[in-house]
Amino acid sequence: MRNPYDTDDRKSFREMVARFLENEIWPYVDEWDEAGKYPHEINEKVCELGVFGFGIEEKYGGLGFDDQFMRKDSSVEMGRTSAGGLFASVGSRNIMLGPLSELANEGIKTKALPDLLSGKKGGSLGITEPGGGSDVAQMKTTAIKDGNEWVLNGSKTFITGGMQASYFVIGARTGKEGLGGISLFFVEADTPGFTRSAIDKKMGWWTSDTATLYFDNCRIPADNLMGEENKGFLAIMNNFNYERYMMGAQMLGMARRCFEECINYSQERKTFGKKLLEHQVIRHKLADMSAKIDAMDAYLNQVALLMNEGEMPVAEISKIKFYCSECIESIASEAMQIFGGAGYLRGNAVERIYREVKVMAIGGGSKEIMKDLTVKQLGL
Ligand SMILES: Cc1cc2nc3c(=O)[nH]c(=O)nc-3n(C[C@H](O)[C@H](O)[C@H](O)COP(=O)(O)OP(=O)(O)OC[C@H]3O[C@@H](n4cnc5c(N)ncnc54)[C@H](O)[C@@H]3O)c2cc1C
Repeated sequence: MRNPYDTDDRKSFREMVARFLENEIWPYVDEWDEAGKYPHEINEKVCELGVFGFGIEEKYGGLGFDDQFMRKDSSVEMGRTSAGGLFASVGSRNIMLGPLSELANEGIKTKALPDLLSGKKGGSLGITEPGGGSDVAQMKTTAIKDGNEWVLNGSKTFITGGMQASYFVIGARTGKEGLGGISLFFVEADTPGFTRSAIDKKMGWWTSDTATLYFDNCRIPADNLMGEENKGFLAIMNNFNYERYMMGAQMLGMARRCFEECINYSQERKTFGKKLLEHQVIRHKLADMSAKIDAMDAYLNQVALLMNEGEMPVAEISKIKFYCSECIESIASEAMQIFGGAGYLRGNAVERIYREVKVMAIGGGSKEIMKDLTVKQLGL
């Protein structure tokens, strides 16, 4: 469906990203997925595209401007590669760059942002804890002020990119119970008292490293507090909006890839004397997929427009997150069905996407929590 808000600049940016991905990523997706890792220089090559620099000043290596349509387009193209794990890992910096560029002090920004935006070093966001992820206000990791330092104790889990990252944005409790006692901190991986271990056996996202982080009397400078003390919850929620919006766009890309693969396969494969594409049931499956893809696309475009105009439509972003996850669950499942037994074999995009849809309904705020937030935002 034509995007009425498309411009020449957005088109060139989208095509530049798509061309890079087609040449440098598409041919290696299966290989890297099976290996559970990818060459480190891919971080730098992806970062060179500028896809993580939106809203960050040029002096730190950012683009110096923001555009939600371009953010969307790059996430769609990354989703279309079917390399979810790769972009979870390379993109883990993306979910910590917002708070870092807005809340960290000048020294930290000058040091960390160029490293992260050039891909030389990795970054991760640590919010989820072994005790729970949905109820952020119940965070247990503590940060206690001791002279010119904060002392962190506790742990974080499911941290994407966490084994490679040099820099972390970590949520910790600095005050009373509940959402009013949480703050954000900048932590470097080589700080004494910080350790990590890998979570290896995941259902999908095999190419991405996932970690549990441990803080054992981990001392960081007082200045590593990001933003105001005890005001971290709001910053975390604001950051989630961008993550959820871009996950919606990534799901649109995954859906498009499933659709494209199904069109190709159903034109080649014959059953009962005709192409799959000529069976009405298959045609209806494609029609359903296409309608869902258009709905996701139109919804994202509308929200992109509002965000570009300065709004933060929290309810609509929550709806996008769960709606897109329900669409991609159904599209990936129907795509697997169209491929029949061939879809069940590893080494094809549809099978990988099918394995990776579940994390899209859990990570960055689960479907249930998104629905709760939506209804709350409706004032109910
Ligand atoms: C592969 C992967 C990568 C991740 N990467 C990161 C990362 O980089 N950084 C990070 O901080 N976190 C990360 N996460 C964690 C993710 O954000 C959490 O898994 C998610 O927020 C859900 O938290 P939980 O797993 O603790 O589930 P829980 O909070 O224990 O919830 C369990 C289930 O109960 C449901 N539920 C909870 N409360 C309610 C309620 N009130 N009403 C109805 N249903 C409810 C949830 O929706 C969920 O289905 C990642 C997770 C995965 C799987």
